[in-house]
Amino acid sequence: TLFSEIDFCSALSDNIKRCKYVKPTPIQRYAIPVAMAGRDLMACAQTGSGKTAAFCFPIISRILKDYHHLKSSSPTMMACPLALILAPTRELSCQIHEETKKFSYKTGVKVVVAYGGAPIVQQFRNLEKGVDILVATPGRLVDMIERAKVSLRKVKYLALDEGDRMLDMGFEPQVRKIVQQMEMPPAGVRQTMLFSATFPTEIQRLASDFLSNYIFLAA
Ligand code: AMP
Repeated sequence: TLFSEIDFCSALSDNIKRCKYVKPTPIQRYAIPVAMAGRDLMACAQTGSGKTAAFCFPIISRILKDYHHLKSSSPTMMACPLALILAPTRELSCQIHEETKKFSYKTGVKVVVAYGGAPIVQQFRNLEKGVDILVATPGRLVDMIERAKVSLRKVKYLALDEGDRMLDMGFEPQVRKIVQQMEMPPAGVRQTMLFSATFPTEIQRLASDFLSNYIFLAA
């Protein structure tokens, strides 16, 4: 399979070509069709495997197909992203933000990153310009939710990256709090993708709590 054979919306296909991605990596080859079909998935993926594109291509493509007008991205005091990508560290969240921005180029999809250890006010300003895909670390996101700057009620796509590392770093309470927000009315059906390098019992528990009828992928 080549990326040119996958039924992404054309703006994303153009960006994939521009970035010279031709052939999917193994995790991309398995995860992308599952994610494009709207299924929940748990995937075993190491750093460098190409896992970022495995969740960000389907998210971008499905947002473009489902939300032609992207009304939610207009400026607002309370940010209501359509997709949320959670990552354990500032470095990883910034890498995911860069990659997702690269592939959202000229699509109208707005990507914003929020992480701890940096002034929150500048991040609020970025959010106020509109956000479709929010990339965040768990602690900073909980802070923003508590300050009523972010609402997760419109999130339809959730990706958890490096799940095992998030648990190792003690983020389980924050992650659970975040997912609970997405389960309160009027939240609708959500697609969830969990990526982790290892599968200890704690990760399996998260998977059974957060995912529904999911596909397990070990590339
Ligand atoms: P990741 O595991 O998502 O951090 O990706 C590792 C590196 O591989 C990043 O620099 C990506 O830009 C690059 N990459 C991911 N998928 C592909 C692909 N299918 N073709 C070429 N480069 C890729």
